[in-house]
Amino acid sequence: MLEETGVTAQLRIAGMSAVGFERAPRSAAERGRLDRFRSAIVSAGWLVFPASAGCQLFGSDVLAPGFEETPPDAETHNEHAEIRATLRYRCANGSSVSELSVNLFDSAQELETVSVEWVTPLSQGSAVVGRRQQRVSLAP
Ligand SMILES: [Zn+2]
Repeated sequence: MLEETGVTAQLRIAGMSAVGFERAPRSAAERGRLDRFRSAIVSAGWLVFPASAGCQLFGSDVLAPGFEETPPDAETHNEHAEIRATLRYRCANGSSVSELSVNLFDSAQELETVSVEWVTPLSQGSAVVGRRQQRVSLAP
């Protein structure tokens, strides 16, 4: 969501697309993959706005429901796991956010496409990006 003064971005990605599994990590390698992906998300380098907008990340939250350990005797076991993130930006010139680029593909090897939905003061819409086409125009 884009406003005059900033952007709030929300991400939701299935564990299989993000790290290749949807359960508690079973090895140091899997834990490392999950930790690296979470760090890549909060580093926010994957979401790019025009330099003229002067957007700065000032807050982020990342949740990973379904990746936690469940006790062996637990009634139910995780059927699904995903990463959810909220990133908050302040933009010196929010009105010049006319496009954005989504480059999650370097951090998530299994990921093929990302569905992007946006709301701005002037328009709203959706688009699908992929490795070769990562740019989304927000023009009304
Ligand atoms: Zn799932």
